[in-house]
Amino acid sequence: MQDVVEKVYEQVVARNRGEVEFHQAVHEVLDSLGPVIAKHPHYAEGALLERIVEPERQIMFRVPWVDDAGQVHVNRGFRIEFNSALGPYKGGLRFHPSVNAGIIKFLGFEQIFKNALTAQGIGGGKGGSDFDPHGRSDAEVMRFCQSFMTELSRHIGPSTDVPAGDIGVGGREIGYMFGQYKRLRNSYDAGVLTGKGLAWGGSLVRTEATGYGAVLFAQSMLATRGESLEGKKVIVSGGGNVAIYAIEKAQQLGAIPITFSDSSGYVVDEAGVDLELLKQIKEVERGRVADYVERRPGARLVTGGSVWDVPGDVALPCATQNELDGDAANTLLRGGCGVVSEGANMPSTPEAVEAFQKAGILFGPGKAANAGGVATSALEMEQNAGRTRWDFATAEAKLTGIMADIHDSCVAAAEEYGRPGDYVLGANAAGFTRVADVMIAHGIV
Ligand code: GLU
Repeated sequence: MQDVVEKVYEQVVARNRGEVEFHQAVHEVLDSLGPVIAKHPHYAEGALLERIVEPERQIMFRVPWVDDAGQVHVNRGFRIEFNSALGPYKGGLRFHPSVNAGIIKFLGFEQIFKNALTAQGIGGGKGGSDFDPHGRSDAEVMRFCQSFMTELSRHIGPSTDVPAGDIGVGGREIGYMFGQYKRLRNSYDAGVLTGKGLAWGGSLVRTEATGYGAVLFAQSMLATRGESLEGKKVIVSGGGNVAIYAIEKAQQLGAIPITFSDSSGYVVDEAGVDLELLKQIKEVERGRVADYVERRPGARLVTGGSVWDVPGDVALPCATQNELDGDAANTLLRGGCGVVSEGANMPSTPEAVEAFQKAGILFGPGKAANAGGVATSALEMEQNAGRTRWDFATAEAKLTGIMADIHDSCVAAAEEYGRPGDYVLGANAAGFTRVADVMIAHGIV
């Protein structure tokens, strides 16, 4: 790392003690910026780097709620409004017991550059809570969401900050939060949240967008080597929204996804995943991946080891941060994997990324590869602002175009800074320069 960026990194570590995921995310971006600063030294002037690593605003709040047995619980809520150079803060809400300030900060930081790459005029933010929705009744989830929104509503708005879903937050939670926001404000501001239901301002393709986008990104990477997804064996982790629609798009493009997972283990289905069954279990029944093997002859559940032990041509990590470490990366490489496209945020550890890059395989980092979700959120905002609604084909064509643009921006930036084919450098450099140029234009704010 160059001296000038090293100093900024040390300050981040000193100022955000113990927030290891945030340190990791900042390190990865700053590490890429050496050639950018060397070519354009003005990016290191006016404390621009110091400003970009400091959130514009951080909100932390108490979320009290009552369970079905009458017991009172207290969770912690977060919203980090990281950067508004390009537009209103935009990013999801994560409800998961692992959530803390460092996790939300890393996600918010990633979101700045991801959102810049989409070129849709959206700033970066993220939020959530350490609330665990698993095993909670609908009524409990509703009361939690209402309490969470009662505080959050003071800070958000269609031109200020527009949350959406992330792990643990889907259509049901967005519905409860939108209902409470509307009631508190006495205003039908459809554009205040994205990921809404189709009957009340949601966009077609938003549900599918993150998974679809990660596969489209893999396809674009493969095309640079004259290859396609046709006939390729795909290893997918995760069993949520991103994984399900990554599997769907991979199948549409002729690939054969054979795995998915959750915290109880991973499923291998050599015949190819039965997508309708998986959707029924995860989306309708809110069940576990283990339920799949009971109904699908030939599929097996593995509870030890990791899904990355399964050999395949393409890996799509669609679960969570740091789910794929250096050892897993080497196992994948030995198994013949030549493409990794990250559907989750920062799923590969720095050691894994290094192993992939050393091996010279195609590696698409999350802030580029999974940007299809937030890009389609921006399309939802556009439809809300115009009080209009596009059909599936129109929305999907726009998503496909945006993913192709993101891919090409990464390729162009990697070439400009002397490392052709390095999508990590390409995504960081392209995202950073877009935000930095506008921050410079806006002055010291
Ligand atoms: N949580 C998603 C992400 O990580 C989507 C955010 C959004 O749609 O605002 O990008």
